[in-house]
Amino acid sequence: MIPRIPKTILILFAAALTWGAAARVCAFERQTVDDNPTLSLYWATRTIPVFPQFDGTTNTGPAGVEVAMLDAFAEWENAGGCTDIQLMSMGMPASLTTNLDGGDFDGLNRIVFRRTWPTAASPTALALTTVVYDRRTGVIQDADIDLNDERFFWTTAADTATLNDVQNTVTHELGHLLGFAHVPDPSATMFADSPEGEIDKRSLGSDDVDAVCTVYPRGAPTPGAVRRTGVSRGALTGVSSCTVSRIGAPTGAGALGPACLVVCLLALGRTFRRTSRRSS
Ligand SMILES: [Zn+2]
Repeated sequence: MIPRIPKTILILFAAALTWGAAARVCAFERQTVDDNPTLSLYWATRTIPVFPQFDGTTNTGPAGVEVAMLDAFAEWENAGGCTDIQLMSMGMPASLTTNLDGGDFDGLNRIVFRRTWPTAASPTALALTTVVYDRRTGVIQDADIDLNDERFFWTTAADTATLNDVQNTVTHELGHLLGFAHVPDPSATMFADSPEGEIDKRSLGSDDVDAVCTVYPRGAPTPGAVRRTGVSRGALTGVSSCTVSRIGAPTGAGALGPACLVVCLLALGRTFRRTSRRSS
């Protein structure tokens, strides 16, 4: 089994608690170094190469997936016209090994569909973003997005209430790739919950625009950035976040309080199972 996953999940829960504790004072939240909540994660470069796997699901065709993913890239790039972040598609990845597999942190940022979802990960997670960073500076080195193609049916159409939208999910996960954490505002792309059929996260909310424009302002450095001092493998660690699908009535933002979020994630994990796959 993959040795890195249990640690990854533990860090996810820790990150969720950190988010909850700080959510009362900030409109957006940043992921932080796991043992230093004052040191935020960020990219030191504004052009981030990404290798999206367009043909990784049988639920929908690669042409539509490519458009959906590129539109998700553009949503962050064009946010408010005030950022110079660029998510550059480099074509499909030659290897599908991601950070979630305990890969080599090779600096190739992948978006892949996983036909077999790791048993150590929550089965209700639509996707996981695993970010590798320099713990001395918070500078992100590598970020991969894994989409759960075992338990969820993907679509690029906007007229379904029962499938999961590729663009909706990828836009959310790209927020994690950029170093952002969940927020309690249900209208934000970085809200943690995503019901089937949702497309609202395709479009950034005001909190999301604030995040990318503040952390990656056009023509200006990231505020508070720690000067990069070089990277050694021993200095790296991973942090992971996810978006979950739910059934039943939406959970209000007030219920997703600091102490509740971890419990909510776990409870959803016990109540939702997809037992069959779409045949075409
Ligand atoms: Zn998330």
